[in-house]
Amino acid sequence: MNVDVAIVGAGPAGCSTALHLLALHPRARVAIFDRARLPREKPCGGAISRWGLSALDAIDATPAALGVAHVPVSAVRVRHGAHVNEHREDEPLGAVVERAVFDAALAREAVARGATLHEEHRLVALDGHTLAFDNGVQVQARAIVGADGTGSAVRRLAGFDEKGPRARLIVVETDAAPGEDVERGVLEFDLTCVDRGIDGYVWHFATTFAGKRCVSRGIFDWRGRRQGDGKELRTALLEALAARGVPASKLRFKPYSERVFATEGPVASGSLLLCGEAAALVDPVTGEGIAQAVVSGKLAAEELGRVLGSGAAIDPARYARSLESLRCYRHLRQSAALAPHVYGPRASVWASALARTRTAVDAGADWYVGRELGTRRKVEVGASFGWSLVRAALSSARSSDRL
Ligand SMILES: Cc1cc2nc3c(=O)[nH]c(=O)nc-3n(C[C@H](O)[C@H](O)[C@H](O)COP(=O)(O)OP(=O)(O)OC[C@H]3O[C@@H](n4cnc5c(N)ncnc54)[C@H](O)[C@@H]3O)c2cc1C
Repeated sequence: MNVDVAIVGAGPAGCSTALHLLALHPRARVAIFDRARLPREKPCGGAISRWGLSALDAIDATPAALGVAHVPVSAVRVRHGAHVNEHREDEPLGAVVERAVFDAALAREAVARGATLHEEHRLVALDGHTLAFDNGVQVQARAIVGADGTGSAVRRLAGFDEKGPRARLIVVETDAAPGEDVERGVLEFDLTCVDRGIDGYVWHFATTFAGKRCVSRGIFDWRGRRQGDGKELRTALLEALAARGVPASKLRFKPYSERVFATEGPVASGSLLLCGEAAALVDPVTGEGIAQAVVSGKLAAEELGRVLGSGAAIDPARYARSLESLRCYRHLRQSAALAPHVYGPRASVWASALARTRTAVDAGADWYVGRELGTRRKVEVGASFGWSLVRAALSSARSSDRL
């Protein structure tokens, strides 16, 4: 098979690349390959922030435009023990989707706009411009896109850095617990688990699954580095579910890992480029990666558009610069710097201060939806957060005195 662009991975990064590229070059021969048959299972909370929805809107591929069931997000809630604060807005802060359904719809849209989709094609070898799949198919491509997620075969076969950090997660979908309102789309981040040494949070997102309103729950551990962590994470998640009144029997826990952003290693060569999670574009503090996958797909398409237009090779430095110019890339850098503090030895104090401080939760929600925080706002938030930190530190010192 001969194509202009071979995209490995039919997730949001790969489909966004295809949709953007076909908008630029409607006659390009764009082939998407995935090891799975769609709809494929994708363990995920499924929350897409407002800026991710705007990026999808630019290619007319929001969940609403694709006719995919979704839950508009009306509030973001942060909890730590007894402290809880919520940020609400009338306009949706984002949307929660069932990933298998959303990703399949996105891939169908790419096909409707001119891409070809090759399911059950697992990439196993890469030699220059030639790709080989596990079913014996060989493909020649002018350019290759690695959009194959956390365990990216393209990244490994191209010899790019494999050492970056992995977050660890467990996800489960359940019915609503007593008193939980799934009709109102709330994203809840419960940081109570930092008290037992988890470097992350438990989430409860109102979602839709198999046509029914329910709740996506799970636990995210940014470091995911220690031996025996899997058991510890599961115990912490079970504890959080019990505290909420969610019966844990018969639940199917799905463990997973994420390639979170850390360093700025190479993400392209003359014949290929990486985008989405294959390029480690996942927020180390929140674990969010769908929106980053969509926007990086746009930049990948722009680079490929230049290649198709001029016949030149991919320019790795130009592609890296364009990624670095993204606002979300600056966020990723900030998150990578923040993560060791937020989830460090003082995590309990930070978490308690955050959950107590309405202005900090409001600012966190603004960050999530992609709003700029001006200097004045940062100072105001810093002041009230600082005061909450002092109160949290005092109450933590008082409780250790009592012990
Ligand atoms: C438990 C969990 C919860 C999460 N919750 C959220 C959330 O609520 N919000 C959010 O924004 N992000 C969340 N994320 C992160 C988000 O799921 C990813 O960052 C996002 O899916 C990345 O998109 P992608 O297109 O780069 O990769 P993927 O969506 O992973 O797509 C990669 C595709 O490549 C295919 N593939 C892999 N290897 C090969 C191969 N060798 N050959 C061919 N095809 C291959 C796969 O089948 C897959 O279809 C979560 C992640 C996890 C693990």
